[in-house]
Amino acid sequence: MAGRKKDYYEILGVPRNATKEEIKRAFRRLALKYHPDRNKSPEAEEKFKEISEAYAVLSDDEKRRIYDAYGVDGIRGRYTQEDIFNTRFKDLFRDFGFGDFDDLFNRFFRDFGFGTFQRTVRIGPKRGRDIETTMEVTLKDVAYGAEKEIEVPRLRRCSVCGGTGAEPGTGERTCPRCGGTGRIEHRRVSGFAQMIRIVPCDRCGGRGTIIEHPCKNCGGSGLEKKVAKIRVSIPPGVEDGSYLILRGEGEDGERGGPPGDLYIRVRVRPHPHLVRQGLDLLHEAEIDFPLAALGGKIRVPTLDGEAELEIPAGTQSGTILRLRGKGIRAGGRTGDELVRITVRVPKRLTRRQRELIKELARELGVDRVKKVGWWRRRF
Ligand SMILES: [Zn+2]
Ligand SMILES: [Zn+2]
Repeated sequence: MAGRKKDYYEILGVPRNATKEEIKRAFRRLALKYHPDRNKSPEAEEKFKEISEAYAVLSDDEKRRIYDAYGVDGIRGRYTQEDIFNTRFKDLFRDFGFGDFDDLFNRFFRDFGFGTFQRTVRIGPKRGRDIETTMEVTLKDVAYGAEKEIEVPRLRRCSVCGGTGAEPGTGERTCPRCGGTGRIEHRRVSGFAQMIRIVPCDRCGGRGTIIEHPCKNCGGSGLEKKVAKIRVSIPPGVEDGSYLILRGEGEDGERGGPPGDLYIRVRVRPHPHLVRQGLDLLHEAEIDFPLAALGGKIRVPTLDGEAELEIPAGTQSGTILRLRGKGIRAGGRTGDELVRITVRVPKRLTRRQRELIKELARELGVDRVKKVGWWRRRF
């Protein structure tokens, strides 16, 4: 498999600009077709691996960006197999009703061609779980970037035993089941071939040693629940629904296993007066007819307080006025605030107001009689 160029979009049969929903539908359709529990043809396994990898990458915003920029080499150079098929992917996989991904993998597949996975069928300390959490930010945080602190409850190394799982002052001894290798070989003869499957030792969990006296604080797992305060910097221009990924800020692995990652989903709280449009912000403002006709100034809300906006005489309903540089600053560019003007028509009039408007209409030459005449001519 090494050296062969793949195109994830081609594998899933979707265009490069496919939406997440289209990608999801394509994966579901193909996975149903090639699922190894249903499809026993020899190509099915290869095909299923391909579509799983393609979906795992394209369903993740960050990985998709890296793939679009650097291709398969960029993905495989940057991520291990475990990074690609992370908890998030496995949850999606389970949600589809396709079963447990790890279980399926261990039953059917040898490897995906990732260098890192060829070494092991999960021998040695297990990597900690990934954590997903949501962070609410304001539009102002998005516009200028910000630093925020979030609280994340997670399993981290036990403070009493330091993660070894052994009561302080006591030691470990060689696992009697695997003799310290951490692995157990299952041999099976199939025709002329002898198949050897190597699995982690079930007694020591692949460590090769067992604990004599488990730590009382953590029960021997080496982990305890802690609430961490983590500082997160919000990059300016971040999109609602995107993920920030903090490597190694997930849960610690059992007994010295490497930590998982923290996925922070960004939720941008709606602003009461401003709506984001790319780097620009849109505000809807209503003004009265005399102001629209004569011109003047109004005050409009911006991300930082209010600003004065000049209404030119003769402004029409629907006109968009621009406050330069009052939008979002990201990637060396700054957006504007756009103010869309709606001219308000009075709904209830006093007798005098009615008279004045009639007089104005006569003065403008747009009084009722003429209007009727115009309609008649037209139709
Ligand atoms: Zn402990
Ligand atoms: Zn063992």
